[in-house]
Amino acid sequence: MIEHGIHTIDTAFQRDHFDAAYLVVENGRGAFVDCGTNHSVPRLLAALGPAGLAPADVDWLVVTHVHLDHAGGAGALMKELPNARLVAHPRAAPHLVDPAKLIAGATAVYGEEEIRRSYGDIVPVPADRVVVAADGHRIDLQGRELLCLDTPGHARHHHCIWDQRSRCWFTGDTFGLSYRELDSAQGAFILPTSTPVQFEPEALKASISRLLSYRPEGMYLTHYGRVGNVGKLAADLREQIDAMVAIGRDCDGSGDRHQDMVAALTALYLGRARAHDCPLDDAGVEAVLHMDIELNAQGLGSWLDRDRR
Ligand SMILES: [Zn+2]
Repeated sequence: MIEHGIHTIDTAFQRDHFDAAYLVVENGRGAFVDCGTNHSVPRLLAALGPAGLAPADVDWLVVTHVHLDHAGGAGALMKELPNARLVAHPRAAPHLVDPAKLIAGATAVYGEEEIRRSYGDIVPVPADRVVVAADGHRIDLQGRELLCLDTPGHARHHHCIWDQRSRCWFTGDTFGLSYRELDSAQGAFILPTSTPVQFEPEALKASISRLLSYRPEGMYLTHYGRVGNVGKLAADLREQIDAMVAIGRDCDGSGDRHQDMVAALTALYLGRARAHDCPLDDAGVEAVLHMDIELNAQGLGSWLDRDRR
């Protein structure tokens, strides 16, 4: 069902129902929020027709942050959208215009082969098509306001986008990860994401509080889809951020810090999934969360190393 003109597009990155982009339609004009990778571009373009739009009817591409599963396809997509401008956080915009550092950073996390396979060649966005949006920037989509707020904690180049019409946030990665495979009678299962290299636990908790201060009715997560019951989910996230920090501190200085953190994070999330009555067994939950657990452990590691300096 399409509510408030918000279309959910599965970018098909990694697997189905893992990575979403959104198309907001107002009065015959469109705005994409996040865009997946180069490989997602045909899917985003294919979503326009059913929404009643042509590529020339898209005014905006808004990226929450520059991690490649959110913005890797920005340059390739912008080539297909003749009238669109790209809206980005002040710390994100330079990397979209000149992606060299972005590619180097992602290669350090994921390795060269994975970068080439998953993302292809990252296309720069011409600087004159980029709107650098500071905290509080308002995007006008046919009179429908989309408000950009600076929400560090997952990354320092992260905006969340408030849509007053739906009273929902597009949260990128600030409001964690919630996969529909793990929904139960208790609702959505959620966990934070601490992907390297800018995880900041206190900033993340403050950003979550800032999102909640708007009294949202729902959150559109990139991974994956809309969730309601935001007060309960925010409490779940805060508890787990604290638990993850404790795990990092406990494992710091151990012989194989990374593997110890992977084991402890796995135990944390599996225990919570069991308490949540998730419909999958432990192996099934682990399969869904495997990649995120690895990234969360890496991100905790870089936070511990940064904290020490
Ligand atoms: Zn991210």
